[in-house]
Amino acid sequence: MTKKRNITTVEVRAILAEAGLRPSPQRVAVLTYVASHPIHPTAEEIHSALVDEYPTLSKTTVYNILHLFAETGIIEELQFDAAQAHFDYAPVPHAHFQCRHCGCIIDIEQMLPEPATTEGMHIANVMLCYKGLCEKCYKEQCAELSKEN
Ligand SMILES: [Zn+2]
Ligand SMILES: [Zn+2]
Repeated sequence: MTKKRNITTVEVRAILAEAGLRPSPQRVAVLTYVASHPIHPTAEEIHSALVDEYPTLSKTTVYNILHLFAETGIIEELQFDAAQAHFDYAPVPHAHFQCRHCGCIIDIEQMLPEPATTEGMHIANVMLCYKGLCEKCYKEQCAELSKEN
């Protein structure tokens, strides 16, 4: 399932300007990729998607740009497991589902829970992730099981 969301360079530059970041070509490229591919890519995936067009773009630069974006709140860094972080441009807060088998991450439209008490804490973001098997992996598992019986 490859979804694609349309976002223009003008919009990307406006998002960067609003966050007080200089719209360097590499920053624009990274944000355009993350915002237009709501598949929660990893830094590696973003790097390999952009390196043909930006041959001087190093993996370190991609990491640095992503962390800068996460710090300024433009994108969310999702760390659901000990493996790699996934990056999400999320204009609307939502929950996630991660497949234990293939690792895909799917957006779930859901209001995120309001904590009952925050005791003076300042909450910046909430990460809610359901885990299980995606539709494809679940069907495959069911097919395997029916074969065995
Ligand atoms: Zn799966
Ligand atoms: Zn998401």
